[in-house]
Amino acid sequence: MAHSHNHGHHHHHAHGDDQTEGRLWISIFLNLIITLAEFIGGFISGSLALLSDALHNLNDTTSLGISLFARKVSKKEANKEKTFGYKRAEIIGAFINLITLVIIALFLIKEGIERFYNPQPIDGLVMFVVAIIGLLGNVITAVLLYRSSKENINIRSAYVHIMSDALSSVGVIVAGWLILKYELFIVDTILTLIIAGYILWQSYYMLRKTIDILMESTPNEIQLEEVTLAMQEVTGVLDIHHLHVWRLDESNILLESHVVIDESDMANMETIKSSLKELLNNGFNIQHSTLEFEFEPCGEKVKSPCL
Ligand SMILES: [Zn+2]
Ligand SMILES: [Zn+2]
Ligand SMILES: [Zn+2]
Repeated sequence: MAHSHNHGHHHHHAHGDDQTEGRLWISIFLNLIITLAEFIGGFISGSLALLSDALHNLNDTTSLGISLFARKVSKKEANKEKTFGYKRAEIIGAFINLITLVIIALFLIKEGIERFYNPQPIDGLVMFVVAIIGLLGNVITAVLLYRSSKENINIRSAYVHIMSDALSSVGVIVAGWLILKYELFIVDTILTLIIAGYILWQSYYMLRKTIDILMESTPNEIQLEEVTLAMQEVTGVLDIHHLHVWRLDESNILLESHVVIDESDMANMETIKSSLKELLNNGFNIQHSTLEFEFEPCGEKVKSPCL
């Protein structure tokens, strides 16, 4: 009866978490500086490109803020209202990040297309100098986030994002130079479309991952048929059905299933259950499974509908 659950309680990396949070704070600060520099530079030069980039970097700052907030929330312990804990808060945070990013990218594309028909004169020198400041900020932020980049979706998406920011800064530096030297204003428009297109492409893949988790999709690395076959091979198991495998978050996979055993095996139920849970944990990295035992497959009798 006493079946205790610790679904939200794995503090193996307490020190690393503190470091990641510190890096996130510095990244937020650096992004604010870039944003401010680009807003001022945009107004001085009359360059809409710099203003758009400033808007983008302002969004980056708030996105990093969401990541930080989500990290704090997802560490909270499970309670009676949130029995799975708060781990999905981080997934929801990543989801909001990405949706915002898509909106900004679409805005940049719209601005870029408008500029094809209505080119704006730009002060190339201001563009050039401010983009160098932006690049420095992006590089420092990318280096700070690099070490924890494999940890979870939020940090990884932030890292991929900042790397693309740095690349676009290099693009803006080159474009600023071309505008300064040859008044090639169209370079600015083309660059905007490339940057926004890249952001959309990146966001698409990250969005698919977060949506898969929110939709409780079967994890990519798990084949349901394979799990069923392996479970049916455990001694005493006659049938496996009503099988669900899903992700709680990036690192936790959960499973529920019905297990049919023979009535004469009733005394062995605990042994069969242990074997199944061991198999699921060791063979498929499924840390938590809920198994419902039956003597006959449900749904085959009128009195026991499959629920
Ligand atoms: Zn950005
Ligand atoms: Zn349980
Ligand atoms: Zn059943």
